[in-house]
Amino acid sequence: MGTIIRTLLLTALFYLLARVVQYFLSRFLTSSPKVEEGDGPILVQCVKCGTWTPKETVFKRGEHIYCSENCAAG
Ligand SMILES: [Zn+2]
Repeated sequence: MGTIIRTLLLTALFYLLARVVQYFLSRFLTSSPKVEEGDGPILVQCVKCGTWTPKETVFKRGEHIYCSENCAAG
């Protein structure tokens, strides 16, 4: 019984670790706001959470671009 719980905990831990590493890698690789231009709507990246949002719907505060009011407030 204890072994099963330990295995489950280790699996969860490894999964969490992989997600955290992936998150920080994506944050590191895309640290500055960029504008992506293409055929579709122009997407800009939120400086807080990294979400790509259509340019028309973003929130701007100074030079920073946010995906939502929530991110702009934080
Ligand atoms: Zn955001």
